[in-house]
This record gives sequence, C-alpha cells and structure tokens, in this order.
Amino acid sequence: MATFFAVLTLALLAPACTYALRDPGVTAGCGPLRYTVTEHDVGLTGDRRAAIDDAVAEFAALVGRTVESLDDSGQVASGNAPGDPVVFEFAWPDEQPAGLGFAEPHVVASSYAGGWVMLNPSLRNAPTGVIRRLVLHELGHLHGLEHVDDPGELMDPSLAAEQWGPGDLFGLYVTHDGGCPGATLVPAFQDAIG
Ligand SMILES: [Zn+2]
Repeated sequence: MATFFAVLTLALLAPACTYALRDPGVTAGCGPLRYTVTEHDVGLTGDRRAAIDDAVAEFAALVGRTVESLDDSGQVASGNAPGDPVVFEFAWPDEQPAGLGFAEPHVVASSYAGGWVMLNPSLRNAPTGVIRRLVLHELGHLHGLEHVDDPGELMDPSLAAEQWGPGDLFGLYVTHDGGCPGATLVPAFQDAIG
C-alpha cells in the first residue's frame, strides 16, 4: 500500500517536474550495469578513479541494478547488444575545449544497451565532486534523459546540482519502467520534492 501511495504521489507531482526523454518508448533493462574505463595516458589519481566507480555504483543502486566493473586494460568495444558494457574513455576532440563529457547512447530493440561516454582528459585535475556529477549526468544520457534548463536537475549541463532533481528521478523512473527490483527512485523522488 505504501508503494501504491508513493507511485500515486509520483504521478500527481510529475507534471511539475523538469525532464526530457531522448526517445519516448525506449527503456533500459535490469541486468548488471557492466562498464569499463579506458584512461589512456591520463593517469587519474586513485580518488578520482574511485569517484567514477562510486558514481556508477550510485546510479546502479538508484535504478535497482548491480554493477560489474570490467578489466580496464583491454580496448573493450561497446557493440550493439543487450548486456554490452558502458565504455568510459578519456578522449576528446581538440576543437571542443570547454566540454567535459559526451555520451552516445546505444539503442537495441527499443532498449538502451551499453553506450559510450567520452571524458575530457582535463578531468585529471577536476574535483572528485565534479567527476561524480559528470558521470551521473552522462549515465542519465545513456539511459534516456536529455538536457533540461533547470539548475536543480543533474541533467542541466551546468552540473550545478549536487543530487538528482525530481525531474531527473521521474525521467529515470519512466525509462526504467518504474525501476528495477530494489530501485530507490521513489524514496529519492520523495526526498527531492521535500
Ligand atoms: Zn549532457
């Protein structure tokens, strides 16, 4: 019953939330969130590398998925199949100096599968909090969210929000069909709306 009311609250409040779906109707699966990080010669400090792993784990717990970190050393190619890993790669075009991250979602049979995240090597000097927010933001893109113009949401490109906003959470609720088993989207949404 508590869940019913939580969902009802969500449904009533959601129209006021700021979120944008990349492709309505496309959803994300509930299998392990597999990922790999290719640093090339960036040489991340341990705390910055941990910030990536922690953010992936944070995202997975939110939507109710487990995490599987793959070997960093291989050049893992994210193909186009369900269960493919998310590939984080430190690589950046010279003509885009200002950006920090870019995400390329992969869709297979109306489902988000793996995907690729390009990270700016300048993040080697970034605060761990920026890395955390950026990784969460890019995972939002890979799982169906587009940018919004609302600094209270992590999908605002300013990355000003410390936590997911209500629109982010409702958007992820939609793209995950209400969340995988164990997802904390509903209580997080209730916290976000205060
Ligand atoms: Zn973005």
